[in-house]
Amino acid sequence: MNTVDRRAVLATGVLALAGAATQSAPAKAQAGPKAMFPVPATTIPIVGETDVFQVRRIYCIGRNYAAHAIERGSDPTREPPFFFQKPTDAIQNVAVGTVADHPYPSLTKNYHHEVELVAALKSGGANIPAEKALEHVYGYALGLDMTRRDLQNGMAAEKKPWEIGKSFDHAAVIGPIHPATRTGHFTKGAISLAINGTVKQSSDLQNMIWSVAEQIAKLSEAFELKAGDIIYSGTPENVGPVVKGDVLLCKLEGLPDMSIRIT
Ligand code: MN
Repeated sequence: MNTVDRRAVLATGVLALAGAATQSAPAKAQAGPKAMFPVPATTIPIVGETDVFQVRRIYCIGRNYAAHAIERGSDPTREPPFFFQKPTDAIQNVAVGTVADHPYPSLTKNYHHEVELVAALKSGGANIPAEKALEHVYGYALGLDMTRRDLQNGMAAEKKPWEIGKSFDHAAVIGPIHPATRTGHFTKGAISLAINGTVKQSSDLQNMIWSVAEQIAKLSEAFELKAGDIIYSGTPENVGPVVKGDVLLCKLEGLPDMSIRIT
């Protein structure tokens, strides 16, 4: 009896006879070193399921609506999609029917909203063809790519990484994930954001320069995608500032609304 077998016997209290092992206690996870300071997994609720979606990586696509690309100073007809990431634990879950408190972050004086469709992957790969890309999508959610615009712009002007403008605590606001088996895939539909009842952003998913399928295809050229990856698919035009006390209401045709209050 080797060390592992002996440990299993001790753990289960079963007197294992040779030959009985195939039928006895299920294989236990290999006992490895434990994390000294365990980090909780980041998860997103799934509508209609008790299980949750564990987040692996958060990808975001930049300037994916022509009118927003123009307002950010680029030519949408010539630029391929570009991507950035937010840290996984930047997720802030917002339950349906609630107004979640969202803390105004440090360092910024120009904090912007960007309402976006989010795709959540159940599988992945490298160099995924666009025609096959939607097979990897588990579901969709409504999200906010919150942005410290002054920091983003300041760093961009100095040709430095603008991570500080995009990647910070609570910067990835998201509603629950809706399985695509129930909603279908999102290629069109109204998307909007209102502040205190006044509509600020209003467009249609059809105005995306790169569809979700194309985003997955392009992204998978640069990174091997995997289950748990989520993709913020870009925001329409008329991004703008929020201040403490503002209530943001996000809408996407086919999904429940999502709302936060800046605190
Ligand atoms: Mn964005």
